[in-house]
Amino acid sequence: MAHAADLTPAMFIGHGSPLTAFQDNAYVEAWRTLGQTLPRPRAILVVSAHWYVQGTAVTAMAAPPTVHDFHGFPEALYRFRYAAPGSPELAARATELAQPTPVVQSQRWGLDHGAWTVLMHLYPEADIPVIQFSLDGLKSPAEHYDLGRRLAPLREEGVLVMGSGNIVHNLRLYDRNPDTPPNPSALRFRREVQARLDQRDHQGLIDYMAIGPEAQLAAPTPDHFLPLLYIAALQRDGESPAYLTEVTEGGGLDMTSVVFGG
Ligand code: ZN
Repeated sequence: MAHAADLTPAMFIGHGSPLTAFQDNAYVEAWRTLGQTLPRPRAILVVSAHWYVQGTAVTAMAAPPTVHDFHGFPEALYRFRYAAPGSPELAARATELAQPTPVVQSQRWGLDHGAWTVLMHLYPEADIPVIQFSLDGLKSPAEHYDLGRRLAPLREEGVLVMGSGNIVHNLRLYDRNPDTPPNPSALRFRREVQARLDQRDHQGLIDYMAIGPEAQLAAPTPDHFLPLLYIAALQRDGESPAYLTEVTEGGGLDMTSVVFGG
């Protein structure tokens, strides 16, 4: 096994509204700093909450389009392109590692806002190849975690694995005023999740819906929570989580990010 210093970091990023693309705030600043301080990866694999489909797929094209997967936002957002190259080679490698899970080689998706609204701040030059890896809505949390485990060799191959979602994502609680105080149950859920990351209690994360009644409030649908399981699955023995931007925006959108290694 590679020495810890040779391991590329793995990270879960709490992404915000698509408007984050053109905002300057504490978490955008934290992402910029992260991009400047982490060792530069050879390529990036993103597991985004916004590619939640039936089946496992990877973006296999050489030049992934920027996907504007949202409605009713300012025109400038729809014009923005994050022009990072793809990597058919990394798509093939991820496909091989995912066995026996079959992986569709997608020519149809691209980089959705879970990926590009974060990467444009982390790596504004868009010069590092990026692929996306879908979330199969038919899989159980344990199956997602196991798939994440199989991707672990990528950390020894210079690939940054980034999960993009939110530990708490309940838009019914959400208020556009960012100073709305966090919902107390939502905050308790996030702290319970952090305690499990701190203790490397991965089973406790897989069983996140058993944390308590607050789980249903914090993660009413699985799409924004599941990317965290892929990143937890990459946590090595003795690796402690480093947290960034532990804030809950607008009452129900938790922006906490977690980095392992680096
Ligand atoms: Zn989202």
